[in-house]
Amino acid sequence: MSNKQRVENKRALERTFDLIVIGGGITGAGIALDAVTRGLSVVVLEMQDYAAGTSSRSTKLVHGGLRYLKNFEVRMVAEVGKEREIVYENGPHATTPEWMMLPFYEKGTFGPWTTNIGLRVYDFLAGVKKDERRKMLSVEETLEREPLLKREGLKGSGYYVEYKTDDARLTLEVMKKAVEKGSVAFNYMKVEQLLYNDGKITGVKAHDLTDGMVHHVYGKKVVNSTGPWVDEIRAMDHVKKDKYLFHTKGVHLVFDHIKFPLQQAVYFDTPDGRMVFAIPREGKTYVGTTDTPFKGELKNPTVTRDDRIYLLETIHEMFPNVKLLEDDIESTWAGVRPLIHEEGKSPSEISRKDEIFISDSGLMSIAGGKLTGYRKMGEQVVNMVTKQLKQETGHSYPESQTKHLPISGGNVNGATGFESFALASIHEGQRLGISENEAYSLVHRYGSNVQKVFYYFEQAPKHLELNPIVYAELMYSLEYEQVYKPVDFFIRRTGALFFNISWVEKHQQSVVNFMKEYFNWNNEQYDEYLEELKTAIQQAKEPVPQV
Ligand SMILES: Cc1cc2nc3c(=O)[nH]c(=O)nc-3n(C[C@H](O)[C@H](O)[C@H](O)COP(=O)(O)OP(=O)(O)OC[C@H]3O[C@@H](n4cnc5c(N)ncnc54)[C@H](O)[C@@H]3O)c2cc1C
Repeated sequence: MSNKQRVENKRALERTFDLIVIGGGITGAGIALDAVTRGLSVVVLEMQDYAAGTSSRSTKLVHGGLRYLKNFEVRMVAEVGKEREIVYENGPHATTPEWMMLPFYEKGTFGPWTTNIGLRVYDFLAGVKKDERRKMLSVEETLEREPLLKREGLKGSGYYVEYKTDDARLTLEVMKKAVEKGSVAFNYMKVEQLLYNDGKITGVKAHDLTDGMVHHVYGKKVVNSTGPWVDEIRAMDHVKKDKYLFHTKGVHLVFDHIKFPLQQAVYFDTPDGRMVFAIPREGKTYVGTTDTPFKGELKNPTVTRDDRIYLLETIHEMFPNVKLLEDDIESTWAGVRPLIHEEGKSPSEISRKDEIFISDSGLMSIAGGKLTGYRKMGEQVVNMVTKQLKQETGHSYPESQTKHLPISGGNVNGATGFESFALASIHEGQRLGISENEAYSLVHRYGSNVQKVFYYFEQAPKHLELNPIVYAELMYSLEYEQVYKPVDFFIRRTGALFFNISWVEKHQQSVVNFMKEYFNWNNEQYDEYLEELKTAIQQAKEPVPQV
């Protein structure tokens, strides 16, 4: 899966596929993996980089769905909770359990009774493992775990498990598995038109944004899994819309752990009744999210001064001894939620449910949903696809095969096997001369694929201006993860723009220089991609004026 062989790879587009998937976020990746493992021929077309839409801009939690309990969406809680366990087992390098604290205060939204019952119901519905079931903490226990919390009015807390993830890497690992199983996938390939025969959809016209070529790609079925862009593709299909998307923006801020030394992940309600997470991660603390209606450019939602101030005030309200200034914000990101419009409801009241729409032409569109539900959504969409294919061709396909299928990097004998795998691999990394901390990060980022990263580390040419670990990660992402631009590497392959922005600033020039050689870019391309990276760094660090 490398863009170096893109021209040769594109020959694969000449066949007629069983399924064309438009959009390479977590939803598209999940659909592709489900379809290809049931024997369908599949192509994924993504107009940006994989996960460059919402799937790299979330709160980065594989939720168990606790928040749905507030709206009494009981079936959803049960389904999402169980699915979380499957996502974890199939890729324990990509998700990590994290105890979350839900403090309650006098006159707050939650009380000890409601929290206790709520979490107990949640444990039951979601089938939570015994050692991860909720605990109720006294005021003292709460403050012992998180001394920074506001003391005034504190009555205790609920304590339960969420799972942290790197959303973009999760998407990549699912996509890589789909490709390993035979799916074709292209990033920077934009669908600009839908193709029809007798009113039925038969394919798409796709524009390769890397070389300007236009390709007619044919498929028996076409799925639109374009997240916030779902209505744009539906408009190409001239769908009469009874339901349409409503976009809201969510913003996160990142601080150095020294400035905001949070010990414990906390999920708390704000004075205006919203829920916000504060989560320690990789030597940083990140906080989010906001939820405001969004009408700007979907590709590049940005963080305004108002967003920053709102979250800073929220932090000061809940952690009064933490004195953070705007200058302490190291990095930020913003994402657009593709919610399905519901009349009369505010952004945070709208359900996060996914829905599938099938148009008269046969175009299937999937909207809404969560990271956690990607596998199940894939299964549901492909159930519909295979049912239709059976009716039309008589050919039957097996049931979904993904429940016990490790994603790429997940060949570590499940969650229990991962610990011993990680230990052995960290030792191996140390033997090669990598520090324990760096080896730890690599093993948790790449799982069982870390062997390939170690291989590149050993091969790193001595004279290169690139640091050998950066070289190893970059080579792996170029050869196996279809990196095409520097932003792909720094944002979606390593997450560094969010959690290690000084590392990005330090290595940006040497990485871009190396990529120029690797892809044989001309000066114009070099300037464009370097500029794009610099803009991304600036937008992560500084507020962007509201338009
Ligand atoms: C602020 C925020 C916080 C969130 N937090 C969480 C969380 O903690 N946990 C959780 O489970 N969920 C969370 N979510 C929800 C979750 O991130 C989304 O549901 C999920 O990422 C949507 O994935 P997707 O693949 O449907 O859409 P996307 O990731 O947006 O993918 C759609 C893709 O389609 C591509 N595309 C669009 N048009 C075209 C075209 N014409 N041709 C080709 N490609 C095209 C886009 O470039 C894009 O990459 C959060 C969302 C937001 C906004």
